[in-house]
Amino acid sequence: METFVPLYISNECDSYCVMCGFNHSNSNVTRKVATIDEIREQLDIIKNHEKVSAVCILTGELFSPSSRMENLKLVCEAINVAIAVGFEKVFFNIGSLSNKEIDFIKNTVIDLSKIVLSLFQETYDEQAYKKFFGLNPEKNAKADFQNRIDTIDRWISAGFSKIDIGVLLGFKEVESDIEELISHALRFIQFNVETYISTPRIKNGSVGDNEYRLILNKIHNSVPNAKLIITTREKIEFINSVIDLVSVVSPGSSDICPYNRGQYISNSNLTSQFVIDEKRLRPFDVLTRINIDGSIRYFNVN
Ligand code: SF4
Repeated sequence: METFVPLYISNECDSYCVMCGFNHSNSNVTRKVATIDEIREQLDIIKNHEKVSAVCILTGELFSPSSRMENLKLVCEAINVAIAVGFEKVFFNIGSLSNKEIDFIKNTVIDLSKIVLSLFQETYDEQAYKKFFGLNPEKNAKADFQNRIDTIDRWISAGFSKIDIGVLLGFKEVESDIEELISHALRFIQFNVETYISTPRIKNGSVGDNEYRLILNKIHNSVPNAKLIITTREKIEFINSVIDLVSVVSPGSSDICPYNRGQYISNSNLTSQFVIDEKRLRPFDVLTRINIDGSIRYFNVN
């Protein structure tokens, strides 16, 4: 079992995914971009207060080349701070990447062996993708279905060896997406790519607990070498009920810089991507409530 904590450093986004709180047209969101000092402080809290040494840096997906590069520079700076202060694994989730952006990462990040590209296709059904994630790639980077898939291949071709792929469950029939996700993962696993799989389900979506358990079971059996991630979008009771099927539990909040040295974390609906059920429970407390035998990798309690 492994863990990592999500750290959202910006909620600015130029995309229009219908189920997302950061959607560009959502005027109820208070937009915020963290400073590098705030990020440094958050990483210090995650490592030394929450005792976790793996993190995922997240932002929205921007459109213009200059705003994308500005965002990427901040993300790479955050990754480098994380690596410099001793994080052992750093995921990042900022949307698709151009070759120029992949090159920038290659030339900027101080230890490439520690980074994992998180990029979920959301759905492998192109028509459904257009409906929920945007029609026009000329104005919305996320709307480019093919570029999103291709980014993973270009990332591996550039020499990187760790990916986190996934689908979003609950807005359409899931069966064919799960089959496609399994094939996608197997394609990389055969080349020894360290492959994580994420299958977050939309709150109040169409996938119930029993169906979700069956989905996790199917992926677990079909791609035993992949590492299935579950997050605290799910209640701890549910996580514990599927703990034998998953390899990673990721506790935290989708608010911008939500961690502090007190007992609770923030998850404001004014600044978060979504509001979690276990409101404000800090990662340390979540991880100590997980029912597993033995230790959790990257959770350094001793
Ligand atoms: S899912 Fe990502 S790209 Fe889409 S609106 Fe939300 S933050 Fe932006």
